[in-house]
Amino acid sequence: MFDAIIVGAGLTGIVLARRLAEEKGQRVLVVEKRNHIGGDCYDYRDKNGILIHQYGPHIFRTSDEAVYSFLSRFTSWTDYQHKVLCYVGGSFYPMPINLDTVNRYLGTNFTSESVASYFDKVRIRKSKIENVRDVIETQVGSEFYHAFFETYTTKQWGTSPENLPPEIVARIPIRTNRDDRYFTNKYQAIPTAGYTAMMQNMLNHDNICVMLGQDYFSIKDEVKAEKVYFTGSIDRYFDYAYGALPYRCVHFQIEEYARKQYQPVAVVNYPNDYAYTRVTEFKHFLKDDTANTVIAKEYSSDTGNPSYPIPTKENLAQYQSYLELAKASKVTFAGRLGTYKYYSMDQIVKAALTTAL
Ligand code: UDP
Repeated sequence: MFDAIIVGAGLTGIVLARRLAEEKGQRVLVVEKRNHIGGDCYDYRDKNGILIHQYGPHIFRTSDEAVYSFLSRFTSWTDYQHKVLCYVGGSFYPMPINLDTVNRYLGTNFTSESVASYFDKVRIRKSKIENVRDVIETQVGSEFYHAFFETYTTKQWGTSPENLPPEIVARIPIRTNRDDRYFTNKYQAIPTAGYTAMMQNMLNHDNICVMLGQDYFSIKDEVKAEKVYFTGSIDRYFDYAYGALPYRCVHFQIEEYARKQYQPVAVVNYPNDYAYTRVTEFKHFLKDDTANTVIAKEYSSDTGNPSYPIPTKENLAQYQSYLELAKASKVTFAGRLGTYKYYSMDQIVKAALTTAL
């Protein structure tokens, strides 16, 4: 009855479903374990009228024209420049590190030129950049590394920054000017009606059928199709043949306050204090004008809903074994969990748009 089955109704699965339906005219069944579409990009409006990102802050940005124009078919956008503060030693500092971060933290009066000389004086020279620690220390030295990156990274990933590849922090620049935006991509915006509405629009096609609350593995033998695209965890697909791949999981404690604002920006990071890594105040994303506010404290752990592949050398070697099994099978593996890659949303869309169908 179906030409293709897609396992997982996250951003990857939904983009693939739309392409198969539209470009190939195929009949597509999307099977989703959760009772909602959207994967970790799922959002909903709460009773206050605030759009909540149930699985943590999702900030869309891209400089890729193809990605932006594809998504723009399914949503209008509300411009949003992401700002993050970092709470260190009782004060809040701009993150990424910029001129103001340095001057306030050190009590100095550097200019853009003199802060560059300061960085050059304190930076640690290393012949090779092999991990997260190297990336930061070769730019700003040990003091800023210890205060802003070391414990945050350890809390977030459950392993030392020295075990994690440079790419993890490559997206975070070090600035000598006063720019306090988190990203500088050409397009930075949030879907005006939310991510879920955007993804629902993608699924609204006569050739696409979605089954929610259905574990694929319990119906695997009943639903057959020429082609299967699997966006769940690759180790689960192969019944953990090489052991369980480690994924970092995040948990959220939602709190509501009877006041207009909790914090001045959408996200505040807590590297050194508290068990949580960061606090997100949702109303900043779409400038929701409400009397109350809702925040989420974010905790990282090894158990729960898998969100981040942990790209240590050891884990990537384990993933390689699964990749060999994947190559020998007829199934296409895609997405963060299926390819064990720390993708941002635009990279997810790019990969799904360029996957061979
Ligand atoms: N990071 C850090 N301190 C910070 C912000 C980020 O050490 O205040 C590091 C950390 O390793 C984190 C990575 O940079 O995992 C990427 O951070 P980002 O917030 O961009 O990632 P997200 O969790 O939103 O995917």
